[in-house]
Amino acid sequence: MTWDEFRQQWYPEHCACFTGIPAWMAKLEKSPDGPATRDILKSWYGVLRDVELREAVRASHRMHSGEIDEPCGFDRHPAAIRNAAGIQREISRPKPIYDADGNQTYACPICFDGGMVHVWHPATVAEIARRGITDSIRNRSLYDCALPCTCKMGDNYARSFPRSPRYDPKRACIIGIGGVSDRDEQTRLLEWIETHKPFQPANYENAFAEFA
Ligand SMILES: [Zn+2]
Repeated sequence: MTWDEFRQQWYPEHCACFTGIPAWMAKLEKSPDGPATRDILKSWYGVLRDVELREAVRASHRMHSGEIDEPCGFDRHPAAIRNAAGIQREISRPKPIYDADGNQTYACPICFDGGMVHVWHPATVAEIARRGITDSIRNRSLYDCALPCTCKMGDNYARSFPRSPRYDPKRACIIGIGGVSDRDEQTRLLEWIETHKPFQPANYENAFAEFA
């Protein structure tokens, strides 16, 4: 969920279930060296940011109704909500599909139903496109990142990271299991660059920063 969804929708909803929370936060803020309410909310958001708003609200209601145990202490609420929402998500994942030979098949051949695609970071692609893979580039860090896939599973991630660009095969080069320092992967990147125009990183640095 976004920060606005967290602050304007999930948090008020959760406080309507657990009415002692605002007073608890206010008391902490007033105590000497106590954390500011905004800092507490930021750290709560850090725990809940990759939980969907709908799932988080549902988890709050389940906790309020006693279906999920309420943890001891308000500061443990975010982790409990996250766990409860995670369990829900696990249940709603598509069941694995197997072909006639018993091999697992996937609805999405790009992300194998994981929802995220592992690609070369656009800044690394741009640098290698400019200068080739020199020893000095090899000896420094090569960067990768993950982008939400174009499929339904990717939609879930895209809702959680609304500022992230989506994976686009024309604009981002996939990295295989070898990773950035694997020579075969680097050779495949050079081949990819020959047929594609790489990202202009100036436009994408901010959006990519959190995935690097
Ligand atoms: Zn996919």
